Amino acid sequence: MGKMVIYPGSFDPITNGHLSILRRALTIFDSVTIAVASNPIKKTLFTLQERVEMIRESVKNDDNVSVESFTGLLVDYVGSKKTNIILRGLRALSDFEYEFQLSLMNRKLNRNIQTIFLMTDYKWFYTSSTIIKEAASLGGAINGLVPEIVCTKLKERFGFQ
Ligand code: ADP
Repeated sequence: MGKMVIYPGSFDPITNGHLSILRRALTIFDSVTIAVASNPIKKTLFTLQERVEMIRESVKNDDNVSVESFTGLLVDYVGSKKTNIILRGLRALSDFEYEFQLSLMNRKLNRNIQTIFLMTDYKWFYTSSTIIKEAASLGGAINGLVPEIVCTKLKERFGFQ
């Protein structure tokens, strides 16, 4: 079995920015597991099941990608897998501070776990799930920024179908 990496996040919903990081990770690792967080405190637009389904549809043609969900601490979930590597994407400087804090906290919780970062492609620098949801809620055109299935679901959700 080759080297596997875990790509965790809320993915509410998955965007082309996430997919770009995923596909680049596949050139470094043998397989990627997308781990969708079920965090009861974080209010999401889509349910855990909807988020997982949209990802599964978006990566159906990608080999060596699996999609799972997890509850509780990320380090505990990673600890139960056959890897000790977490993958995160970085966009602007503002991501850096949060991601740095997060990786230090995860490291404190489990010293065996390493977090690696991939810089976003400039095309997705301004792409975030939050801003896409905002635009979609107001009827903005979001095609090209998210997979087809997400575009359809967002339009449905906000009544622009
Ligand atoms: P979380 O709620 O855990 O921050 P997200 O679903 O928002 O989860 O993001 C998951 C990961 O993907 C994070 O590392 C985030 O920085 C990264 N990411 C999100 N959007 C992009 C993008 N456009 N380009 C690169 N990385 C991104």
